Amino acid sequence: VNTGSKPDISREKSKELYEKAKTYFPGGVNSPVRAFKSVYGTPLFIQKGDGCFVWDADGNQFIDFCGSWGPLILGHNPPKVREKVIETMQNGMSFGAPTALENELAELIIKNNKHVEKIRFTSSGTEAVMSAIRLARGYTKRDKILKFEGCYHGHSDSLLVKAGSGLVTFGETSSLGVPKSFAEETIVIPLNDTEALTQAFAQFKDQLAAVIIEGIPANNGLLIQDPAYIEFLQKICKDNGTLLIFDEVITGFRLGFEGAAGYYNAKPDIVTYGKILGGGLPVGMYGASAEIMGHISPDGGVYQAGTLSGNPVAMSAGIAQLTELLKSGFYKELNAKATEFAEGIQRFATARSYKFKVFHVGSIFWFAFTDKDKIQCAEDIDPASMEKFKVMHRELLNRGIYLGPSGYEVGFVSAAHTKIELEKAKRAILEALDIVF
Ligand code: PLP
Repeated sequence: VNTGSKPDISREKSKELYEKAKTYFPGGVNSPVRAFKSVYGTPLFIQKGDGCFVWDADGNQFIDFCGSWGPLILGHNPPKVREKVIETMQNGMSFGAPTALENELAELIIKNNKHVEKIRFTSSGTEAVMSAIRLARGYTKRDKILKFEGCYHGHSDSLLVKAGSGLVTFGETSSLGVPKSFAEETIVIPLNDTEALTQAFAQFKDQLAAVIIEGIPANNGLLIQDPAYIEFLQKICKDNGTLLIFDEVITGFRLGFEGAAGYYNAKPDIVTYGKILGGGLPVGMYGASAEIMGHISPDGGVYQAGTLSGNPVAMSAGIAQLTELLKSGFYKELNAKATEFAEGIQRFATARSYKFKVFHVGSIFWFAFTDKDKIQCAEDIDPASMEKFKVMHRELLNRGIYLGPSGYEVGFVSAAHTKIELEKAKRAILEALDIVF
């Protein structure tokens, strides 16, 4: 039933805060996507989160599907995480020296994830990936890396590179300030294209230190790769002495405790994690076999460090959060709930013949304005479809639903979303679709 557009929510306080923020920060924000540049209106300043809800500075309440871009798999401010963090803080915030908490979190991870024998904690996903790349280069004594168009791996120089034209290209920098010479060490090819991969390995034989891929690419839509492609990727890397890096900053501990590597039953040489690992506090991590990790300083010659690496407060959040995820049936229940949500929306859109697809895996979903049954590479996304997302985003905010402010971003269902809220959100989404189409 098309109920028509709802009146816009009040953003008076957010507007005031945004005006002030613009005098302090470039674009008024500390990370670009927050500026609402590709959706309608002033960015909302969030005041509080609890369970699956957030409230903005004007007191508007939303069911949140952004979840701080992924870390909040238990929802906002879960008591078990909060209590553990507060308990740790009673003893101080940071020592720059080893603590037992680092061992505790490492043990939880290593005992339950066969893809890592040794790990190193960092403070962000960007740092984890940047360090993994250095490790791969140090280990193989090669300089070039290969990445895929549409995969995001944080904002380090080597990885802010996009595809040029053609099947196999030296990347072009996707930011001012990245030296062209750096971009020349990064080869960029399309996803899901075995021919491009074969050609790249033929062209750069013996030069490729690593291939890096998001476990399931989820930063430019949700580009779910076929298992056969992941198998091919593993084989070609192995045959050429190139390390395969799975960037699991989004998929790690999200699809399951072993992330996308577990999902595909793949054997990446190095994995990188962030987000969920920190339970909402700044943490990243990279890990590999003991043999590969042995190349990191102080044991080996690959240098990497961090004042706040393994910070006790962040470790506590990670311990409390991962302990919940390891409880029997956690992922089964979460993923079933998210699947039902996604499929319910899809059934409605299909019945109405809307050009709209809900791509989903585990508790990750992506709304795509398309009639394609599969979207597996960046090129298959029509930029014009983002105009439709913009309308949808506005209608959803006005109905109390918060999605990340870009149509290229995925959404997340958390354990805190109950069937009641998911049903409510679904109704709002269906209303928004009726307006969009
Ligand atoms: N890798 C992937 C796959 C990501 O999605 C992100 C961030 O969203 C990063 C790396 C960078 O992580 P961070 O933002 O914590 O630096």
